[in-house]
Amino acid sequence: MKVRISLGILLVLCVGCRTGHLGAPQMSASWSATRSVHIEEHPECAACGYLPKPGKRNNDVHHVIPRHVNIDLELSANNLITLCRKYDCHLRFGHFGNYRTGYNTNVVEILQDVGARMKAAEAEFWSQ
Ligand SMILES: [Zn+2]
Ligand SMILES: [Zn+2]
Repeated sequence: MKVRISLGILLVLCVGCRTGHLGAPQMSASWSATRSVHIEEHPECAACGYLPKPGKRNNDVHHVIPRHVNIDLELSANNLITLCRKYDCHLRFGHFGNYRTGYNTNVVEILQDVGARMKAAEAEFWSQ
């Protein structure tokens, strides 16, 4: 299925962190811009290294500290990490299996370098 990138799609992409938690406040107007900057600088999943092909749906931008816990960190670059839906890294590493109630405050430390190392190992394996 072909997915056209549009504002509607971008809003849908944020749905895990946007409406996953009951009572979470509305996304700020600057979120889509912040999200775009982050995904441009960090397009690959921090957990598995997955990089969507051009024209495919971008990876998710996850809030380490959820918005309903601290809304002041909504647009803070230090609070964002790229995780994929394709292999459930967003759900597993970011939310411990539950978008509504789970969140992993150590996700950045845990995944440091893992995505890059996975990508390199994968490329090396398939080039042999
Ligand atoms: Zn992933
Ligand atoms: Zn999330």
